[in-house]
Amino acid sequence: MIKFSSLISKLTDSQRILIVGHIMPDGDDISSVVSLTLGLQQLGKSVLGAIDDKIPPEYLVFPGVKDLIDYEKFLDLKFSPDVVVVLDCSSPDRVGRFVKILPEHTIVVIDHHATNGFFGDINWVDSTYAATAQMVFHLNKVLGIEYNEELATINFVGLATDSGFFRYSNTTSNLLKDAAELVEMGAKPHFVASTILENKTLNQFLLLSKMIDKIKVEKGLAYSVLTFEDYLSCGCTDQDSSGFVSEIRSLKNVEVAVLVMEYPKNRVHVSLRSKNYVDVSKIAATLGGGGHARAAGCSFENADPWQVLKEVLTLVREAMGG
Ligand code: 5GP
Ligand code: MN
Ligand code: MN
Repeated sequence: MIKFSSLISKLTDSQRILIVGHIMPDGDDISSVVSLTLGLQQLGKSVLGAIDDKIPPEYLVFPGVKDLIDYEKFLDLKFSPDVVVVLDCSSPDRVGRFVKILPEHTIVVIDHHATNGFFGDINWVDSTYAATAQMVFHLNKVLGIEYNEELATINFVGLATDSGFFRYSNTTSNLLKDAAELVEMGAKPHFVASTILENKTLNQFLLLSKMIDKIKVEKGLAYSVLTFEDYLSCGCTDQDSSGFVSEIRSLKNVEVAVLVMEYPKNRVHVSLRSKNYVDVSKIAATLGGGGHARAAGCSFENADPWQVLKEVLTLVREAMGG
């Protein structure tokens, strides 16, 4: 357990703050980075929010998201931070090219992954939180940040997306209370849900049908593969398959869902999901990745998707006792 007071004094004592999220950004990541950036800016500090990857386009309509910068933009700005806050990352490699500047700065890590490696100088890591954005909400309140409709809405995004819109096993009464408080402060749940869930392209549906075509099911395990050729033939990128693995998990009698995605050629990402008892974060960690008990992932460079699938299936079958 960290002394929460050391985190607060580090942030209040710093004037120039860089806030960094993870590559392959999800809703919690974007929400956490933007909400803390907007919060600390209210305190009159010079704050930059950064994610070193493409932001999924549907998120660009939310307040503050367009202002996020990547590593190149960061170098252009010649911004020299007093402290770097890393959000929603279980390991330093998750920040993309920002990993290069971590050693020369004081690092604050705020995260809810059970697999977090405590790589900061100050680490606030608590896997009882459903979302890093929920931690940011608590932090902002302690810092006395005022919430308007914009801040409440972007902060709500992380609570909603990391809990599967309040359906996953991390949906606790605390999460619902915090979500309700954000709604009272002006967050717009229907706008958030329709923006994120009801903005699919026809090409995404084509890609989804390719994934469904290839699903294999065996004793509580279901898996599929999307190759680079699949993405190309549907006019899609890796961003378009976000959330697909949940469709596999939604199958009856399936405990573990695996989706192997190759994009671009020979870069492979694996998404793992479980329903009730298999800790997929342990499997992902064995393969150099990480995550949560019910949702985890890992990535490989210069890899063949079918070979990766074979390795992952061996570990999953072992974890399932067969
Ligand atoms: P997804 O399957 O949606 O990409 O990721 C599920 C969860 O696993 C997320 O919490 C994400 O942060 C984590 N995760 C995914 N890929 C990686 C990875 O390569 N390394 C680590 N440490 N965590 C990952
Ligand atoms: Mn995340
Ligand atoms: Mn998260």
